Amino acid sequence: MVDFIGIERIQELVSRRGTARFIEELAREIESDFLRWSEFEKSPRHASHSGVGVIELMPASDGRLYAFKYVNGHPKNTAVGLLTVTAFGVLADVQTGYPLLLSELTLTTALRTAAASALAARRMARPGSRVMALIGNGAQSEFQTIAFHHLLGIRELHLYDTDAQATDKLVRNLAALRLPGLEVHRSGSTAAAVAGADIVTTVTADKRNATILTPSMIAPGMHLNAVGGDCPGKTELHADILRRPDVRVVVEFEPQSRIEGEIQQLPADFPVTELAEVLAGRAPGRGSEREVTIFDSVGFALEDFSALRYLMRIHQGERGGERQIDLVPDLEDPKDLFGLLAEGHVKRAARPGVPA
Ligand code: NAD
Repeated sequence: MVDFIGIERIQELVSRRGTARFIEELAREIESDFLRWSEFEKSPRHASHSGVGVIELMPASDGRLYAFKYVNGHPKNTAVGLLTVTAFGVLADVQTGYPLLLSELTLTTALRTAAASALAARRMARPGSRVMALIGNGAQSEFQTIAFHHLLGIRELHLYDTDAQATDKLVRNLAALRLPGLEVHRSGSTAAAVAGADIVTTVTADKRNATILTPSMIAPGMHLNAVGGDCPGKTELHADILRRPDVRVVVEFEPQSRIEGEIQQLPADFPVTELAEVLAGRAPGRGSEREVTIFDSVGFALEDFSALRYLMRIHQGERGGERQIDLVPDLEDPKDLFGLLAEGHVKRAARPGVPA
């Protein structure tokens, strides 16, 4: 039997500790793994592109545990009532190769992405940052808001989305959350939302080289948390923002970010710093008050590895942890796999109208 976390179970696990605390614990878990960066087997994710989206496989291993995530990105899905991003994943034991946990990762991806954004921003944004613009108010946006409110101290939020109904939904959800001291404002354009912000989070979905942020919108000292550009040909920042002389770009895993991040728009020798270096204190997240810092987030397999291990620990440690799924055969004689199909072992599923 394999531990199983479905939607109902993740709802339970998150609501028991609250979303903010869940993101905080996840951020700690991710940080502790980034601090032992060299112990991991890492590779850019395997992506299968189509005209409308992408399906990706994301593996990572530390030699004891192995994890992979299946994730898709289909920006047009919402028009037919489906999510842009869905995901699930497996944590396995390297010694035996046996899967230990099969888990939903759709909600978890939103939680871990917000946790990673906040981890980076804590090292990169100016101390005392209080105002954030949030461009793209879809599925990820509440999670980003909670993380930046809780872990960075954001107290003023300026929202913009080309779809006014997405902003309506975000405003409604944030009102229900009553995050202490948070003022929420709607803006009429991206430029209006960004004006005066300390931090700008872009989390839009569009399968093209979009220019959500243009050079004239950027003020000295801003921190840009660029989350939505995460595929070849799918970016959010005008390339001239990256070319500013006062810019510092931090990425998760350089070989993957060269393919998928905002920096795909620049030559391969454009200087970037990996987040692990910043978290370890070997490189600064920010060089000066006036520097423009950019976290060029694409989502890296190690974040999902950390999330899966954290999920398994809290799942097993708490009421309801007996939920499992019979994904792998449990045999008395491991060489007698066929025995599972032998007469008497097959439980016939009762189908309506078909006698068992
Ligand atoms: P979503 O479809 O639910 O929301 C995206 C929102 O962006 C929509 O409301 C859409 O109207 C808005 N939008 C599109 N173009 C816009 C524009 N020009 N200006 C303003 N708003 C615009 O998608 P989601 O699940 O919230 O994901 C958002 C993006 O984040 C996707 O591109 C996804 O691939 C990416 N993502 C990245 C990571 C990561 O780790 N970096 C993780 C998860 C998702």
